[in-house]
Amino acid sequence: MFKNIWYKKTFRQILYFLSTALAVIFLWITGQKIFNFEYLFEAYELKTFDLRVNMAAKNRESNSNIVIISIDDNSLEILQDELGRWPWSRDVYADAIKYLESDNVDSIAFDLMFVGNQKGFEHKDLELAQTMAKYNNVYTSMNFDYRENKGNAPDLPDKLKAKLENNSKKIDFSEFRFTYARLILDEIIQATDKIGIINFRRDPIDKISRKSPTFFKYKDDYYPYLALKLGTDYIKRRENIDFNKYIINEKNELVIANRKLPLDNTGSMIINWYGGDEPFEYIPFWKVYKSAMNVQSGKPSLLPKDYFKDRIAWVGVTAVSLFDIKSTPLSSVYPGVEIQATVLNNILDGEAVKRVSKPTDLLISLLLGFLVALVVIKIREPVISSLICICGVLAYIFLASYLLDNYLIWVGIISQLVFMLVTFTAMYIIKYVLKSKDFEYTYKLATTDGLTDLYNHRYFQEKLKEHMRKADKNKTQFSLVLIDIDFFKKFNDTYGHQAGDEVLRQVGQRLKRSVKPADLVARYGGEEMVLILVDADTDNAVLISNRICKIMSDNRFKLAEGLEVNVTISLGVATYPIHGKTSTELIEFADKGLYNAKENGRNQVGPLPDGFKKIIKQ
Ligand code: GH3
Ligand code: MG
Ligand code: MG
Repeated sequence: MFKNIWYKKTFRQILYFLSTALAVIFLWITGQKIFNFEYLFEAYELKTFDLRVNMAAKNRESNSNIVIISIDDNSLEILQDELGRWPWSRDVYADAIKYLESDNVDSIAFDLMFVGNQKGFEHKDLELAQTMAKYNNVYTSMNFDYRENKGNAPDLPDKLKAKLENNSKKIDFSEFRFTYARLILDEIIQATDKIGIINFRRDPIDKISRKSPTFFKYKDDYYPYLALKLGTDYIKRRENIDFNKYIINEKNELVIANRKLPLDNTGSMIINWYGGDEPFEYIPFWKVYKSAMNVQSGKPSLLPKDYFKDRIAWVGVTAVSLFDIKSTPLSSVYPGVEIQATVLNNILDGEAVKRVSKPTDLLISLLLGFLVALVVIKIREPVISSLICICGVLAYIFLASYLLDNYLIWVGIISQLVFMLVTFTAMYIIKYVLKSKDFEYTYKLATTDGLTDLYNHRYFQEKLKEHMRKADKNKTQFSLVLIDIDFFKKFNDTYGHQAGDEVLRQVGQRLKRSVKPADLVARYGGEEMVLILVDADTDNAVLISNRICKIMSDNRFKLAEGLEVNVTISLGVATYPIHGKTSTELIEFADKGLYNAKENGRNQVGPLPDGFKKIIKQ
């Protein structure tokens, strides 16, 4: 018996768990179709990533070898008298280059695109190109775009192309396949091969820039991102390594010397950000320019000697008035030149963020969901299990932040939290359903008689008292009918106990079918049964009792093996409150009626005891 119950419970648990899992999967798929869950989750995931990035960035220091020469609002204002309005003629940059070179700069990168000749200043454009040609450490930018008329797309010299060996099965650069190159000054293209591409990338969901491209595809050739080109040259020079082509390995990593930079499917790097408001060292352009002018005329520089020695100087616009501002996780107003410098820093340090794959994220979600389910099932106290789950959620968020901060690993948070929440709720529902089913089961065990499936004696006694209270309150009557099977001892002796049990069962069923649902049928004990007929006065009760008596005697009982027998019953009636004020009195009264029925020859409703209304026998 015990084993049986245990088995049933486990079976039910599995059944509930499976049906819940199915329901969740169904909801998930329809939700995905109708509400685009994945997009929604990703949007929130990006937000949690940004929060983590902001926390992590505070602890990260940028490479002190990188200096940003910022063309800021101050520089525009201070240099306006000397250079006029923006854009300045390009000899200005030539002067800056000469000064930086005289200060032993490692390399110079212009986050500026020198597009098209400035009318009347062609000789100054040429001066810049010639200065660039003179040094082999000056880099400048170009970009690609999409244009319909592909016939016009210019060819680019081979020296600008990147040699790339892509061993990854996932990376295809399809997002960075362009149809048009915006050419910069031809003199510059002729003069140098230090030209990198500076198209930048925003997340399609929220237009925030979190990733940096590495290579751009144009006319079947690859061109490197400016920071990548400069960074590789720097590493090559500083570490004295042999480097003739870029290699992306099978694990989707860009390999540069001993650095391995994780790339996503589009060949982009997830940027690892540095610092708070001013991650790099800044020198306003005006200071560099004025120093250059001073040095040219034999006056002292405004900057200490060797300030730029062995450093990489990025020249770019940070002036808000010129609108070269982008959105990043750190700020919605972020200069493009800082993104370039950050990516360069990532490359030099060999550190970019690695986002775990979707299957890994799903696996983590499943594991966490399973743990939550276990806690809910195993721990009785809802308060404690809820607290444990909340602590678990906090611990996971902490772990995810720790992983990004210390290992540059981006594990999902949102889908994991949703999974935990869904499992938590579902498991509580399951637990509740199981509990109520369990309760139902024990309740049935406690209130019914196993043989006849009628209510048991105890339940009858409780209900009797309840009916008495109700009748008192509503000033109504109800009746009690005691029933006893005639000559049952003899029946048992003749046909055996098994047959006797079967008769008891069938009598019980007939009784149940003969009364209204609101009435109560119980096994009083042995072969005696009892009815509570709600709202029935004595006349009514006698009428019903007679009908029942007839149902028993007129219909033979079919037993096993084709055996059919006649069984009769005797009945005694009592009505509350007229025949008794307590349950004992009432039962005694009905028992007297039953006794009378037996005395009168059985198979009948017993006449009421003397002093009460006579019964009209049907
Ligand atoms: P009568 O009531 O007509 O006077 O005769 P009776 O033979 O029914 O008399 P009594 O009430 O003394 O006997 C009751 C018998 O019912 C005794 C017992 O063997 C039988 N009985 C009681 N409970 C059960 C049961 O659960 N199963 C079976 N098979 N018999 C039972
Ligand atoms: Mg009896
Ligand atoms: Mg009997």
